[in-house]
Amino acid sequence: MRPLLVRGGRVIDPSQALDAPAQVLLVNGRVEALGPDLAPPDGAQVLDATGLVVCPGFVDLHTHLREPGEEEKETIATGALAGVRGGFTTLCAMPNTLPPIDTPALVEAVRRRAEEAGLARVLPIACVSKGRQGKELAELADLARAGAVAFSDDGSPVANAFLMRTALHYSTLTGLPIINHLEEPALARGVAHEGWVASRLGLPGIPPQAEESMAGRDIALCALTGGRLHLAHISTAGTAQMVRWAKERGLPVTAEATPHHLCLTDEWLLGTRGEGSPFAPLSPSAYDTHCKVNPPLRTRFHRDALQRALREGVIDAIATDHAPHTPVDKACTFQEASFGISGLETAFALCYTILVAQEGIPLLRLLEALTVGPARVLGEKGKGLGSLRPGSAGDLVVLDLRKRWTVDPSRFASKGKNTPLAGVTLQGMVVATVVGGRVVYDARSSPTGGRG
Ligand SMILES: [Zn+2]
Repeated sequence: MRPLLVRGGRVIDPSQALDAPAQVLLVNGRVEALGPDLAPPDGAQVLDATGLVVCPGFVDLHTHLREPGEEEKETIATGALAGVRGGFTTLCAMPNTLPPIDTPALVEAVRRRAEEAGLARVLPIACVSKGRQGKELAELADLARAGAVAFSDDGSPVANAFLMRTALHYSTLTGLPIINHLEEPALARGVAHEGWVASRLGLPGIPPQAEESMAGRDIALCALTGGRLHLAHISTAGTAQMVRWAKERGLPVTAEATPHHLCLTDEWLLGTRGEGSPFAPLSPSAYDTHCKVNPPLRTRFHRDALQRALREGVIDAIATDHAPHTPVDKACTFQEASFGISGLETAFALCYTILVAQEGIPLLRLLEALTVGPARVLGEKGKGLGSLRPGSAGDLVVLDLRKRWTVDPSRFASKGKNTPLAGVTLQGMVVATVVGGRVVYDARSSPTGGRG
């Protein structure tokens, strides 16, 4: 493989608190050097990043790739392409496929399919329980040996407290995090956040306490076992407060939040894109099923609390919860529609537009939550990811912070066109993505000419 020199960019690497003009040299798939005056070695390929930001490739802790079993929604190959178009060089694949990833052979199959696709790195997450049934623990040690990087029954919670206790106990042996989808089933029978918007629309609600009661339980079990607990897609002020409390006590707890929970509110269900009023007439685009997601979009109060928690580092990682669906899954009533947003290709721009440009969260902090933050959640398995220190994986992304573009889901590489952001203009575009020292996406030379 030819060496690659990324030249002329502003390099931002949160893993070394770096924000300076620099060149990055990648050799044999790894970062060889980083500095102000590197010359290209003989035969090197040069990637021009003049006027652009260069940062480590993004790491997504929470991606639904749907393969095996639901290839009409997404495949590992289409998901990996969507990933690199969104700047994600590592995708942690959730195991709620058909069949669920609960055996070493299935873990290996996911890894093999990802290698064939040859785009983003795909790290398999395996099930906590056999068949995701929530009854019997899967063979966690064998799954870890086969290459699983974490365990989760995501899509469903580990509802049984004893099973969760046992899983966390095992994690002290494997060193791998247990990722829980926080949802007390008895409280989560609705389709939208329980509040005035759901009342106005006549939709059954899901209270924040459905999430918070399980977050509290899990943090208590983390204290009991000392196991590694990672809280998936936290969406409420109360959960953020509990994570803050747990971290202050030194518990091995980490948390992620999605771009949509950090940036949008349940007022989007009114079809007014966040400018709702309880007294306004209903918009014809109310009940847009593309806004249906689990956990639900919540109120400004919760969104603001999540933004605060991100700013303070209480939230370790921004994870997409990329959940692609077919049009049929969404072309139905709000109650019947599937939960989920196709998020890989809008994550960075949505976060940049709202969190940095509008709310003033430092860019370095946003990029930390997309790079070294999630890499640290993965512990040993994340070593060398999310960083441009010499010796790290040669994964990086080139960003144009000034570029504005309008979301057109028909141009997504993902099979999932389900996004509430269709027609919305965002700021910040992924220009190029490099995985293992190889340019796997370049908007300037791609056949579709990027999205701009
Ligand atoms: Zn989930």
